[in-house]
Amino acid sequence: MRLKNKTQLFFVVVMAALVVILTAFSALGFRYFALYAAEMHARSVAETVKVGLTESMIHGTIDKRQQFLSRLSAVPGVKQVRVVRGPAVIAQFGPGFAFERAEHQDAEVVLATGKERFEVLDVNDDLLFRARIPYIANDHGTPNCLQCHTVSAGTVLGAVAIDISLTEMRRQSLIAVALISLAVLLAALAALAVLRRMMNPLTNTALAVSDVTSQAVGGNFSGRIHQRSSDELGEIALNINHLMDFLDREVTTIRSRVGELMGHHINDGGNQLALTAEMVENLVTVSQFKQAIEEDQTKLDIYLRIAEVLGQKYDFKRFSIYEVAASKNRMTPVLIDGELGTTCRYCDPQITVDSSFCRARRTGHEVNAVEYPGLCTMFRPAEAGDTHICLPINQSGSAGCVVQMVISAEHSPLARLMTPFVAVYLREAGPVLEAKRLMEHLRENSLRDAMTGLYNRRFLEEYIGTLVSGTQRRKSTITVLMLDLDFFKQVNDTHGHEVGDKVLKTLADVLLRNVRSSDIAVRYGGEEFLLALMDTGGDVAMKVAEKIRAEVEATKVPIAGGMLQKTISIGVAEFPTDSDTFWQIVKFADVALYAAKSAGRNRVVRFTPEMWDVNAHY
Ligand code: GH3
Ligand code: MG
Ligand code: MG
Repeated sequence: MRLKNKTQLFFVVVMAALVVILTAFSALGFRYFALYAAEMHARSVAETVKVGLTESMIHGTIDKRQQFLSRLSAVPGVKQVRVVRGPAVIAQFGPGFAFERAEHQDAEVVLATGKERFEVLDVNDDLLFRARIPYIANDHGTPNCLQCHTVSAGTVLGAVAIDISLTEMRRQSLIAVALISLAVLLAALAALAVLRRMMNPLTNTALAVSDVTSQAVGGNFSGRIHQRSSDELGEIALNINHLMDFLDREVTTIRSRVGELMGHHINDGGNQLALTAEMVENLVTVSQFKQAIEEDQTKLDIYLRIAEVLGQKYDFKRFSIYEVAASKNRMTPVLIDGELGTTCRYCDPQITVDSSFCRARRTGHEVNAVEYPGLCTMFRPAEAGDTHICLPINQSGSAGCVVQMVISAEHSPLARLMTPFVAVYLREAGPVLEAKRLMEHLRENSLRDAMTGLYNRRFLEEYIGTLVSGTQRRKSTITVLMLDLDFFKQVNDTHGHEVGDKVLKTLADVLLRNVRSSDIAVRYGGEEFLLALMDTGGDVAMKVAEKIRAEVEATKVPIAGGMLQKTISIGVAEFPTDSDTFWQIVKFADVALYAAKSAGRNRVVRFTPEMWDVNAHY
């Protein structure tokens, strides 16, 4: 129930109770007053009768008492006046007239007891006040009763019976009570009207506060309250308006700031407060995401985390993450639907060999086929109605990665809403991925020899531990080949350093051609190379060494004015056959190389323990 209605109801109830109480009290008051007046009236009449009768006795006109009493009965309001003789008077003067006999029991009781009686009776629609007052003999004053009556003082001489009509008085009282009630009722109505007027500003302000605050809860702060007065109500209106101004201004500012941070502005409409809170929540999650990927070790960890955001947070179950190669114009699928190392599932594989076919990669902009169907011709839908949104992860101004979300027809409205949020994550991931890529590139460079592209000695030092433990686990072998060009110094001396370098590069190519991808080719020193043939031992390793030697011998390096042919010497030792310490195996291979040089160069020599004894100085 509204405050206004409540107050009015309360007021009406109080006023009604007041009218009832006043009516009841005034009715009671009038009744009491009427009875009191009637009693006084009866006493006066009784006294008049007594005086009248006494006077009649003195003047000897007692026989005419009936006329006197009849005249008294004609007094307005008096219905009847009768005198009843008591036994003492009857004994002295006889029974008197017939009307002087006690015809009611109450008169007899009064005569017997000497006590007056008053009662109110309803007789034939007439309200009667019946008084029975005894006359008691007394001996004081002149004349006194005992002068005529031969009785002792205190004897009941008789009684006067008086009936007074109260009907008219009752009518007058009722009119008076009705007028009082009417007056109170009118006063109550007037007070109610005044109260309503006084309540209006209060209830209007309360209603306006309720409206404005409920709008604010719904995220709309445009509501204001009309300030009607300068009292407390006016202050409430003023303060609420200030609060709304503040909220409107601050929430708009927060919303646009958060929108800037998210790179996505909230549309007008909807609950602005809830949307802003949701965006702040997203911002926090994005910042946690950023911190997590910064602490991730590899790019793959970051891709997996992006996949988690896509799949778990935004419910994209089908997606591709492509990595664009730094130098070559290629793209590699890193994760497809959360699966590692698979081929293209939703794109023409042509994009992997020529990434410029990928629209998102080429333009560096979002490709939204939900909004513009058929935007990218490389998309290959898996099911009818499938569409896609591709977002590039820009690194140094161009797409370093492309994230493709494959969207079914019924998911597309939601996907459209979610994409800006995904874009925020990807924007944060961009610089981190770039930093990781740079780190990996630097690391790769620090472990490779720039001239030949082979691994350097540092790589061997860093990784050999892992390789050896793997080999031991597999109970396999690593064959170490130590290679050194024969009389290489002459090349430099005769043809210059540049030709020397060319020979070294040619040799590196020969080595790479003759080993598997699991093997490791290292430029160990100036013109010394080391090959670690993984899981290869015995004759097979010797055959590889021999093949390399032969190929080097057969290789012709074109130089100014002709061709240059060089030979190579190779020392071979096997882990763990010759020693269970890898670096000892390297030394043994070097000893074998020394033996090959000593034996005339251009040959492959397998290490034997005797060589170690002979070359004990190593
Ligand atoms: P041997 O048959 O005994 O090996 O004779 P060698 O002349 O090859 O002797 P050695 O292996 O000691 O020769 C090392 C020479 O390799 C010295 C240096 O001039 C040359 N060299 C080392 N590193 C490079 C390089 O990076 N570029 C060029 N052009 N020459 C290099
Ligand atoms: Mg050498
Ligand atoms: Mg040499």
